[in-house]
Amino acid sequence: MIQRVAKRVIINRGRDKSLRHHHPWIFSGAIQKVEGTVVPGETVQVVDSDGNIIGYGAYSPQSQIAVRMWSFEPGEEIGPEFFRGRIQQAYQRRQQLIPLLHTDAIRLINAESDGLPGLIVDRYGDFLVCQFLSAGAEFWRAELITILQELFPAASLYERSDVEIRAKEGLPLRKGLLSGVEPPEVIEIYEHQCRFLVDIRNGHKTGFYLDQRDNRQQLAAFAAGREVLNCFSYTGGFTVPALLAGARQVTNVESSAAALELLERNVALNGCDRQRIENQEADVFHKLRHYRDAGRSFDLIILDPPKFAESKSQLASASRGYKDINLLAFKLLRPGGILFTFSCSGQMVPELFQKIVADAALDAGRSAQIIGRLSQAPDHAVEVQFPEGGYLKGLICLVD
Ligand code: SAH
Repeated sequence: MIQRVAKRVIINRGRDKSLRHHHPWIFSGAIQKVEGTVVPGETVQVVDSDGNIIGYGAYSPQSQIAVRMWSFEPGEEIGPEFFRGRIQQAYQRRQQLIPLLHTDAIRLINAESDGLPGLIVDRYGDFLVCQFLSAGAEFWRAELITILQELFPAASLYERSDVEIRAKEGLPLRKGLLSGVEPPEVIEIYEHQCRFLVDIRNGHKTGFYLDQRDNRQQLAAFAAGREVLNCFSYTGGFTVPALLAGARQVTNVESSAAALELLERNVALNGCDRQRIENQEADVFHKLRHYRDAGRSFDLIILDPPKFAESKSQLASASRGYKDINLLAFKLLRPGGILFTFSCSGQMVPELFQKIVADAALDAGRSAQIIGRLSQAPDHAVEVQFPEGGYLKGLICLVD
């Protein structure tokens, strides 16, 4: 099915600058007029106020981001051939990264940054886990599934479109097998020297935080002989490399009992002694206060919280949240201690995050140095015209 584009979105005069720079989002406020009746996700031709073609995108009437651009090539046909080309390109790009990855679990397609807004595909061994996150990705869902089956005939496809952002696009939440065999209860993957069990059916995101892969290696470099506090531990992404690198003890604080259960299995899978971990099913905000009041201290603390800011309006409260946990962590660190602190909120820019961490150290009465800056793994590539794609940021701080 080739879609002939008859419907047009006309951009307000002076509001096409970011599009000229090939930024893929059009906010509803930049639109002068939508010509014709457009169903959610349908392809529209995007034109400037003089009628010049800018490109083609998917229309999403319910979203603040009213159009996500598929192409800036005048005359490009948006259809199966187009999508096959983009998916092949994403695959070839990942092939070039192989020497950097050291894993069999990678992000194959990274949405906007691979020219496929709203489409995420993560590969865990023989399983491809897909998320259709925008109206446009949903519109082309059947074609995208067929192409993935053709290009990866040995893989099974599993859908994890059960994420809240689908609601913003007016889409129902959905998950389940798309093709191939039902996934086992857990899939074993490897990352560098570590092995992990991943629950692609019920785990967070598509099952594992693949974006933190390289940062886990950085952590391993500092872990030997240290007493570690891993806050927001999930299934032990940081715990296992710390133990394998010789950490004395790792305390994991996590609100999800299921995640901690899998963490225990991951520790065992890697042949590490259960005695070297302590699991606390608890709220990190409370637990850090409890440790402070009890006078506990650690040599290495990891703060890898969930996204505190979903939108700009939440940035102020998110900032208070980051400040709070970082301040408490600075208080709990022994002299010579190390803090690995992260934010995965796209709204939180690195400069502001660094300022919050600096204020936290000051208020905790500690001096500290930044000895490393961290971001997302290379398979979570950021298209240069789409800085929003770079959401994960972290600092390694050495505390006096
Ligand atoms: N560092 C992990 C990923 C952390 S994701 C890794 O590398 O795999 C954030 C985790 O924090 C999730 O597992 C979530 O269940 C947990 N979480 C969210 N809010 C929490 C809170 N207030 N207290 C404790 N854990 C929380």
